Amino acid sequence: MRFVLTGGGASRGMALGRARLEHPSRYLIDERPLGEADVEAEIERLRRAIAAARDELQVLREKLHGTMAREVAEFIDAHSLMLADRELTTGVYDLIRIGRYRASAALKMQRDRLVAVFEAMDDPYLRSRKEDVDHVIARVQAGLMRESSTEERKLASRVGEILVSDTVAPSELVPLAEHGVLGVVLSSGSLVSHSAILARSLHLPMIVAAHAALAHIQDDDLVLIDGEYGEVVVHPTAQDIARYRSRQREAVQQGKRLALLANVATCTRDGVPIALYANAESPADVAQARALGAEGIGLYRTEFLFLQRRELPGEEEQFLAYRDLVLGMGGLPVTIRTLDLGADKADSSGLVLDDEENPALGVRGVRLSLRQPQLLTIQLRAILRASGYGPVRVLVPMVTAAEEMISVRRMLHECARDLRSAGHEIADQFELGAMIEVPAAAIALSGMIRTLDFIAIGTNDLVQYTLAVDRNNDQLANLYDPLHPAVLKLLAHTIAVAQRAKRRVKLCGEMAGDKRYTALLIALGLTDFSMHPGQLLEVRETVNTLDRAALRAHAPALLRAPTRERIQRVLERMRT
Ligand code: PEP
Ligand code: MG
Repeated sequence: MRFVLTGGGASRGMALGRARLEHPSRYLIDERPLGEADVEAEIERLRRAIAAARDELQVLREKLHGTMAREVAEFIDAHSLMLADRELTTGVYDLIRIGRYRASAALKMQRDRLVAVFEAMDDPYLRSRKEDVDHVIARVQAGLMRESSTEERKLASRVGEILVSDTVAPSELVPLAEHGVLGVVLSSGSLVSHSAILARSLHLPMIVAAHAALAHIQDDDLVLIDGEYGEVVVHPTAQDIARYRSRQREAVQQGKRLALLANVATCTRDGVPIALYANAESPADVAQARALGAEGIGLYRTEFLFLQRRELPGEEEQFLAYRDLVLGMGGLPVTIRTLDLGADKADSSGLVLDDEENPALGVRGVRLSLRQPQLLTIQLRAILRASGYGPVRVLVPMVTAAEEMISVRRMLHECARDLRSAGHEIADQFELGAMIEVPAAAIALSGMIRTLDFIAIGTNDLVQYTLAVDRNNDQLANLYDPLHPAVLKLLAHTIAVAQRAKRRVKLCGEMAGDKRYTALLIALGLTDFSMHPGQLLEVRETVNTLDRAALRAHAPALLRAPTRERIQRVLERMRT
């Protein structure tokens, strides 16, 4: 039966695929006892599910090829043998027949018994084989839960997978995309989490905060997701699929219309040029940024080089990545941010303290870099070496005090001196800037500005820290409000202080790429934006319709407005 779940559209695009639940179905067990009349039917259900699981394994085995085929085949054979094992299956049938357990509950009991036997073994290898039991049982459980029609199953067998999970770490997203996952539905999560940012960069449609997803979607259900509107259609009808095809066609049309703006200048109607830079995480972002006429890279998040790995990337590896980035931009300026690990980006690298009670307020960004100077030195050396290939700016995250910038600058100079004396050709000059993303840095900016060559406003964190709202907590999504009067005051103040001191100021949080905020930010005095390249043309299209002088005249009213509602009213006036 068709039903629709809604959540937040975190990464645009539509996808049609089979649901793959991250939580194995064994967690959803119906424990109610069976009535006598239902026993035989339940046994039949289980038989069919076991037969389906064996068929699936057979199909998998036939598809194997390549170097690992033999090893994988051995695993599959072992699993098939388990499914044929009378010890295993008789026990489960008895539980249904005698114990009146439903098939899924009986399977779970049998699993727990077998796992207990494996766990009691001394041999660590044999002990680890309990995972095989889990895999086999989970496969049968999935078969039991599948309630799709034959038609739907036929369609499902031809489409890829959509991951349905509670959360997903940024480090897990790249392998997911590489393994052909078409989209992601999360029951929690927020639009400004790093996972959402990365999903946009990977062009992987993603819905967050679809609260009922895990409870209502089952493995192998056919689902249609729309990452723009945050919609998940489970068991879509032919009409839904037709709508999907027509939206895809519309998206192509819109893409064509916007593509005409790729080489157009970004300039308000009254002739003020607005600089649009790109945020980049991957080489694909860099290529797109260039193709769409970005002024440069406004934010390169280096932490993505550090994720998904056990050992840290050394100087040479980092240098090559940064050099390729600089070369990829063909002489346009590139802003490389030093490592911003911590909080939700913590990974297997072992760098981040994992026992912090408040990681967002903990050893993060520049705090981590200054505690591990050898790490920062390697990174600064790699960045400086890349500066020999094109204009590079160094950006430091999570800054709260001038002293931090003084320390980083000292290290940067030492690295430059060492590199030059070792014969490396590096730039004569390099700019060093800070992310303004902690309220303290924004409030005290006038005292700190002399230690900075430029600033980049990180609204993702600035909103979180100003409002004391965890950016990843979907329960607080309604309080995470970039239009809060306190946020607007901080933005206006930061932009004004930087401009008075003749420092370039760019905004590189998600607000910059959201066309609903373009007029507001221009009204507050901003002229430099940095966003995911996928948003560049839309923002350019918006900028080119605006009149900066007229917008600026609304700034005092915006800053006087005491509530979000009044701010919205001023924004509406600005539109007319
Ligand atoms: C920000 O905080 O706005 C920002 C751009 O950095 P990140 O999202 O990586 O924390
Ligand atoms: Mg930040």
